Amino acid sequence: MSKVALITGATRGIGRQIAITLSKEGYDIALNYRKENEELDSIKKEIKENKVECLAVKGDVSNFDDCEKFVKQVIEKFGKVDVLVNNAGITKDMLLMRMKKEDFKQVIDVNLVGTFNVTKNVINYMLKARSGRIINISSVVGVSGNAGQTNYAASKAGIIGFTKSLAKEVASRGILVNAIAPGFIQTSMTEVLKDDVKEEIAKNIPLKRMGTAQDVANCVKFLTSEDSSYITGQVLHVDGGMLM
Ligand code: NAP
Repeated sequence: MSKVALITGATRGIGRQIAITLSKEGYDIALNYRKENEELDSIKKEIKENKVECLAVKGDVSNFDDCEKFVKQVIEKFGKVDVLVNNAGITKDMLLMRMKKEDFKQVIDVNLVGTFNVTKNVINYMLKARSGRIINISSVVGVSGNAGQTNYAASKAGIIGFTKSLAKEVASRGILVNAIAPGFIQTSMTEVLKDDVKEEIAKNIPLKRMGTAQDVANCVKFLTSEDSSYITGQVLHVDGGMLM
């Protein structure tokens, strides 16, 4: 019986690459998406080319009822979730003195509360199976902080605390919980930066380049493999050496 991976926010960027990479590893894929878009059909097609099943489930991760509904759809179709990747995330950057309280709350609601909402709906199935891997996508700024990102950094630091606490709660039941802290990765999230800003950032990264979605997906692949079966409660930094 194939293993099943549920990835949130998986129609573009890092989530998309994680879904494709795990499909190449033979996982049946449940893709969560928020908005219908032209990417959805192309990713479903790409995944099915790897001879695995693909189910796309719509839902806003910041809405608990949506998460309950889409996790139920995944269970109805596949009967289990072996791997959960909490990837969906947003930014709404602004210096604190000008940040609207709605923008602080929305980033926390999607990034941190969203991670809770999906995990809460999946965990019972993993507990019953006495196995599972949960991978939460945090960020380098959740550890280092960053001016203009109090909301985002707080959400990503929260994910690290959530990861370590849950790892302790479920280790005895064979469930491993880890976080990945990517640095600057080329996706639509960082596309908004001006070219000279991107060049300046790359110059200050020891490996002298921005990361790719595949760099992060490779780490997810490792954290789902048998090779990482003695690793839990950790934060793996995929950032070209930005933070040491
Ligand atoms: P992205 O290209 O902007 O993609 C974000 C994905 O999350 C999209 O598929 C988006 O769906 C989805 N999403 C947003 N809000 C959602 C919600 N409420 N419910 C369900 N899905 C939602 O960003 P990315 O760069 O791939 O980022 C992926 C993750 O990596 C995020 O958690 C981000 O914080 C983290 N990260 C990124 C970087 C970086 O440099 N890119 C660095 C560190 C960490 P829609 O298409 O429907 O909007």
